[in-house]
Amino acid sequence: MSDCLFCKILADEIPSDRVYEDEQMIVFKDINPKAEVHLLAIPREHIVSLTELEPQHDALLGHMLRQLPKIARQQGLDEGFRTIINTGEGGGQIVFHLHIHLMGGRNMPGFE
Ligand code: 5GP
Ligand code: ZN
Repeated sequence: MSDCLFCKILADEIPSDRVYEDEQMIVFKDINPKAEVHLLAIPREHIVSLTELEPQHDALLGHMLRQLPKIARQQGLDEGFRTIINTGEGGGQIVFHLHIHLMGGRNMPGFE
């Protein structure tokens, strides 16, 4: 997907501050953090949103979710963290490459 912002980040065409990566996913700092810690976890595969998920993606999504607690701890979030997935324009999705927001620490928005 040549016009996808997060595919460009994956290809290092746009710089990002990566905190984790493996063969299936990368995690980098959100450029406009809404909390003390605000990361974005994305699959290397270009998937537009949750709406486009197929059964073949089950293992990928399971893998991504299981990495998050480990990454949160590495960021010092020992007491927990919040995950958000915005889906579609109505859900506030701006970048149409599936991503999981991982937030924690001070100034965490919403759902208090
Ligand atoms: P969405 O609203 O689509 O769920 O979230 C997109 C997120 O991507 C936003 O929190 C926004 O700050 C972040 N973002 C947008 N452009 C860039 C960028 O070029 N680099 C990084 N690291 N984050 C970005
Ligand atoms: Zn993409």
